[in-house]
Amino acid sequence: LVSRKKHPEDSIVNVKGEKIGDGKQRLIAGPCSVESYEQVSSVAKVLKEQGLKLLRGGAFKPRTSPYDFQGLGLEGLQILKRVADEEDMAVISEIVDPKDIETAVDYIDVIQIGARNMQNFELLKAAGSVDKPVLLKRGLSATIEEFINAAEYIISKGNGNIILCERGIRTYEKATRNTLDISAVPILKQETHLPVVVDVTHSTGRRDLLLPTAKAALAIGADAVMTEVHPDPAVALSDSAQQMDFGQFSKFMGDLRESGLYK
Ligand code: PEP
Ligand code: MN
Repeated sequence: LVSRKKHPEDSIVNVKGEKIGDGKQRLIAGPCSVESYEQVSSVAKVLKEQGLKLLRGGAFKPRTSPYDFQGLGLEGLQILKRVADEEDMAVISEIVDPKDIETAVDYIDVIQIGARNMQNFELLKAAGSVDKPVLLKRGLSATIEEFINAAEYIISKGNGNIILCERGIRTYEKATRNTLDISAVPILKQETHLPVVVDVTHSTGRRDLLLPTAKAALAIGADAVMTEVHPDPAVALSDSAQQMDFGQFSKFMGDLRESGLYK
């Protein structure tokens, strides 16, 4: 059902009026983790000043170590909803447990399924059974075929509002956290009719690579670029090495606009 052969036209995923996949290229930004109302609210205001409408933030954090910050859970979703209402933005947040899907639809505008859960089939089926857009991330070592099949799990349950997200894959290369597979963007667009997003933060793990990879993503035709912004990355509870502070984000936006790639 996700195949371009079955459905030649591009699918557009409407997220609170933002029509992802309509040809306009967008930015999705926000903190790695929701840490407090003040934190999310301050980030949202900065994004809004730059014209962004799509706010990300993790409430349930799938961390490699059980001793790392695991997220605020439901309280995090409540904070996101409050900020989204106040700032008139749409929020994207990861859900990790199928039993939280029903609750999540009341708080968020897009359900994110993270890389570590790309083949959590019960979670995919649960997300496919609700009427809410899903942002599906490519698994840590998933082939494009496996990625497309994961999307098929969601659509097979009735939910076709799926956004695919390339976020880098594991290779032998250690210079970056993951290896951004930029060619996945046109391949996914050829093979499927779904919008495609590139997450430059988790693919590179490096703040100095956010701008060049964002440019590459826009140049190659991604429908959106996702990146992380935090009021003070040095004290962030997760991903402090690659989130941008407000000054860096403003420079990032200025440079992207100046490149002519982001309108
Ligand atoms: C995230 O976007 O917060 C995240 C954990 O990313 P990924 O699942 O791609 O590692
Ligand atoms: Mn992160």
